[in-house]
Amino acid sequence: MTHAARIADALERFFVNYRECMTYVHLAFFFFFIALMFVPLLTAEAAMGDTPFSNFALFSNYIMWGLWFPLVLLSVVFTGRAWCGLMCPMGAASEWASSRGLKRAIPWWLRSEWTPHASFLIITVLGQTIGVREHPEGVAVVFGATMGIAILFGFLYGNAALHYGKRAWCRHTCPIGLLLGLFSRMGIVNFAPKRKVIHIARYTERGVCPTMININAKDESRHCIECFKCVYPEKETAGLKLELRKPGLEIEKIRFHNPNIMEVMFFYIGIGTALGGFLWLFLDQYQQMRRWLGETMLGWRWQWMGEPAVSWLASVHPERGEVFMWLDFISISIYMVAWAAVASVVLSLTTLASSFIAGQEGADGTLYSRFLELGYQYAPVCLVSLVIGLGSKLFSPLESLGPNVPSQAKEVLFGLGVAWSVYLGWKILQEQGLPPLRRLVPLFPGVMGSLLAGVAWWVAIFGPIVLEQSLFD
Ligand code: SF4
Ligand code: SF4
Repeated sequence: MTHAARIADALERFFVNYRECMTYVHLAFFFFFIALMFVPLLTAEAAMGDTPFSNFALFSNYIMWGLWFPLVLLSVVFTGRAWCGLMCPMGAASEWASSRGLKRAIPWWLRSEWTPHASFLIITVLGQTIGVREHPEGVAVVFGATMGIAILFGFLYGNAALHYGKRAWCRHTCPIGLLLGLFSRMGIVNFAPKRKVIHIARYTERGVCPTMININAKDESRHCIECFKCVYPEKETAGLKLELRKPGLEIEKIRFHNPNIMEVMFFYIGIGTALGGFLWLFLDQYQQMRRWLGETMLGWRWQWMGEPAVSWLASVHPERGEVFMWLDFISISIYMVAWAAVASVVLSLTTLASSFIAGQEGADGTLYSRFLELGYQYAPVCLVSLVIGLGSKLFSPLESLGPNVPSQAKEVLFGLGVAWSVYLGWKILQEQGLPPLRRLVPLFPGVMGSLLAGVAWWVAIFGPIVLEQSLFD
């Protein structure tokens, strides 16, 4: 038995033995997160000189955006979706509600592959317009609403024939679950069937799995939340087995792990949305677009664009000197969606070029199958984009080491992401049957795609901060 197998065995036995105790962990996280979400609304505003140690609102903000969000994202590489199965209070509350709820069948519109993508876009854009990373009210609205919907979906959906609950929210809607699921394909941790059955449906609402995985058909990490409910260490051939693998292996061999075009599109959309969410704060280009939009709409006599937007959609905090108008709400939304579209087009073209050239060099498969596989090379770049773009508070404490250290840390992280993406592209081309020298040319467009994302982040990290006079000031 190898060291990795011994460690996997020990982990498996530990978590199976203490599975029942997870309820207490979930409860502890539930109350902790409720406190982080709502207590800052009741406590004193942060004053000049306050720190996370002297003001609860700052403490809560740092825990959410400086630690929880970026570290949970990065953790998938080491622990897969352990956050989802072992700690997340939202998923646990949804499953609990499902075990006691109406247990209706999950409707088709919820099962659509578009649903988590729409959910991600809506929540990410709303997060920017409402200032979820700056204002405690934003956290309360976004997280309070998602927690409420997660519990509602749990209450509505499940399987009437089973006494335990299902997680329709986690499988089909949660935007964080979407991120963690896709990136868990790069992770070290995997749950594999002890006895694999092929040619059966991957999805079932009848089995033990809360995220509807047909465990004997399991061949991808994406939907596995590592709850250990299907793990029976004492049985030779039943259930799943925890195993540790080389990071990125599932993506290198993605053709055997149910690749999906919607996942590839998400890598592009995720990079673009994160860039848009970061760049609107920094680039003059956003201000020019906003000004043009404002002037155009004033020309149409849409005076309401200059009115403050509603506080559950946009940041409206006159006491803190920030009031977003409808114009701001619409401009930020358009800008982020536009970046998602631009990134999707550019990276689709680079992937298409790689796929076409690989075919010319003798790679197997069709243009589409090669495109599908090569699209996964952007997973690491997408992961680091989201960490840098939406979780950049993680790097703030590094300022104590020097004013440039946070930027340098982001550069290093981004560089590692690009290097990993290039390596994955190389390995995917190998799987497509190309010998080393023939991989170089088809690899090039993929490298260009990663570097283009790098250029955009370079502007985001080091670009000039342009603050222009508001059109309606
Ligand atoms: S999918 Fe979302 S709600 Fe479900 S456990 Fe994961 S993070 Fe929590
Ligand atoms: S496959 Fe097993 S460990 Fe993974 S979510 Fe389903 S029941 Fe839990």
